[in-house]
Amino acid sequence: MNLPKLYQILAFSLFLTACDQSVNQDTLTVYTSRQPQLIEPILDKYSEATGIDIVLLSGNAQQLLERIEVEGINSPADLFITVDAGVLWQASQANIFEPISSSILTNNIPKNFRDPEGKWFGLSKRIRAIVVNDKGNQAPPKSYHELAGKQWKNRLCLRTSAKVYNQSLIASMLFRLSEEETHKILSGWSNNLATKVFSSDTLALKAVQSGQCDATIVNSYYLGRLIDQQIGNNLSIIWPDQESFGVHVNISGGGVLKTSNNKAEAVKLLEWLSGKEAQKDYAFINLEYPVLQDQELHPILKSWGNFKEDTMPVHQLGVLQRQAVLAARKADYN
Ligand code: FE
Repeated sequence: MNLPKLYQILAFSLFLTACDQSVNQDTLTVYTSRQPQLIEPILDKYSEATGIDIVLLSGNAQQLLERIEVEGINSPADLFITVDAGVLWQASQANIFEPISSSILTNNIPKNFRDPEGKWFGLSKRIRAIVVNDKGNQAPPKSYHELAGKQWKNRLCLRTSAKVYNQSLIASMLFRLSEEETHKILSGWSNNLATKVFSSDTLALKAVQSGQCDATIVNSYYLGRLIDQQIGNNLSIIWPDQESFGVHVNISGGGVLKTSNNKAEAVKLLEWLSGKEAQKDYAFINLEYPVLQDQELHPILKSWGNFKEDTMPVHQLGVLQRQAVLAARKADYN
């Protein structure tokens, strides 16, 4: 193919993209790392209520971020919705988000769950708690710190520190504690491991359940799922650090892309997701906690009772992410 012809094709496809975007003001495209079954039912409700069609592209967060970057100004994406404040922070560092000033978003979402520059907003809370079996429940650990103690030698199971959930947990320690205190906890955990680290929270839970170890640290919705499927026997949740900073809280959330051609509608969708109508479902479907105050919780969550949450600004989980990775490495926590 000669070069001018290639340019023609490129120009033609750019033209098509431009036309698409100018006529489809009633369509929003959402790139998401959330599993479709967790988010589709809520977006369907929005479409029904507003007549706005939503095109969903789901995939791995890092791959979607790369795709957004490669597509540049021609990206069809209007919103990026993902999990973990560390990932949202990375996305804002990649400069993909349009800062939004919306009183609906700032009223609905507590300040610590929003980017200070209004680039992304938390839409649900994800609590990283301790889970023990009957044996661990005899003298339950009161803190993440306690799991580093000698009494937990060969009794602890953990998911790999390569997972962003654990990087964020470690980042929260670095925010609250000194580097030295954090190192003590991480190397204590590493010394107490009963087995190699796991690739998923669910595998860690099953190891605790079977007695391979007596405690682990997981996002509470993974335990919720087992209970919901009636296979959560021999497992109890513990809310750590209730006498100090509170249990570690992460978020799922999203933002509007600065390359969106339909920013006003994209903001409206984000606002709706933070509102009363959507918040219950948004949190309910994945057994998460709503960011909007005083919302109804899933019965499984209700059965776990109230607890104190760490109120640190979650964007710091991103700021401290690199340091967290290094701290895990230094403590031999793989
Ligand atoms: Fe998860």
